[in-house]
Amino acid sequence: MISVDDARSLIEQRCTPISAEPGPLNAVSGRILHEDVVSPEDLPAFSRSAMDGYLMLAEPATASLRLAGEILAGDPPRQPEPGETLRVSTGCAVPETGVCVIRQEDVSVTGNLITVRTKIVAGSSIRQRASQAARGDVLLARGIRINPGAIALLASVGKTHPLVAKPVPVFHISTGREIVDASRTPGFGEIRDSNSPMIAALLADQCASLVGHAKLPDDPSQLRATLESPIARNARIILISGGASVGDHDHTKECLLATGFDIVFAGVAMKPGKPLLLAQRGETLAFGLPGNPLSHFVCFHLFVRHALASITGAPPPERFTAPVPHDLRKLQDPRETWWPCRSSPFDLIAWRDSSDIRHLASANALVRIPALADPTHSDNLTGFLL
Ligand code: AMP
Ligand code: MG
Repeated sequence: MISVDDARSLIEQRCTPISAEPGPLNAVSGRILHEDVVSPEDLPAFSRSAMDGYLMLAEPATASLRLAGEILAGDPPRQPEPGETLRVSTGCAVPETGVCVIRQEDVSVTGNLITVRTKIVAGSSIRQRASQAARGDVLLARGIRINPGAIALLASVGKTHPLVAKPVPVFHISTGREIVDASRTPGFGEIRDSNSPMIAALLADQCASLVGHAKLPDDPSQLRATLESPIARNARIILISGGASVGDHDHTKECLLATGFDIVFAGVAMKPGKPLLLAQRGETLAFGLPGNPLSHFVCFHLFVRHALASITGAPPPERFTAPVPHDLRKLQDPRETWWPCRSSPFDLIAWRDSSDIRHLASANALVRIPALADPTHSDNLTGFLL
């Protein structure tokens, strides 16, 4: 059995980066940017009014100004004449220097005359050209995960097809003769498949595309045939749910060996998820994930997500620290434990065993509880956000 850290570095070493493709803005949310996005223009591209109000010279000749017209949003800017003012609305173009906008709340209007009731300062209520970014500035750096804010920024500079990592093709195989689809009423001793829908949701968040899903009994010949199929050969990652352990009906390891995979490791010194195994055939990595749903979840976040990040160039998850609980010894196990929790305020979720997902929905992080024999002492626990 190897340590969690060693397992993660072996995974990293076995991953080949995936190539990039231009993706339309409506399909790049959550994907990894593979280029620096440089601003093709100043932001804003022209000086514009920040308010509904009146445009005037910064040094008006008189306190009362004649209303001489209006600049409409979308029109080119115009300079008011001395003694005159122009009506403006938020976002309309204004000259770059020598003017200001006075909000309509700060003037009194008598017929055609506008009297300013506040101090006049050059540039007030104007969003100056290039005040947010100059042409040539890097707006978004290669390697970030694109979120809705980034999508808005990309759209605002006309970058409609940013270069993003291709989605990683993942094939999920659920094994176990007792497992039935969640839509079915289980017979006695049968268990609804919760791993498959959970994996589909986890993959959707991690730049992966679920290219296939198979449901198999504990039959080695069917598992071998599935691992030989074109869909398995073309997947970058194969996730095999269940059968990773050493029971008489756990066939994952032998089937992987029989279909041309090398075993990278089998067993990780952790709780939950000890039976996890990793195998490799060319560019394809196969994870044998323990079937218990909590183990499945934890192993996905610690290992599968790490593989996906190594392939796509995704940034590492955000880390956090938490105070060591008073009753730490009660929580410790001979193996290090990765415990689903809330990061802030820090709170461990309750779980009785690795099949127990009663409270999993409220977790937003995993925290590492050191093994009982771990000699490293620290004031804090560390973990990462999901
Ligand atoms: P295994 O890893 O095959 O030994 O399975 C461990 C436990 O997880 C058993 O109780 C299985 O019934 C259960 N299990 C396996 N696959 C799933 C699944 N897809 N959904 C929910 N539970 C599962
Ligand atoms: Mg099983």
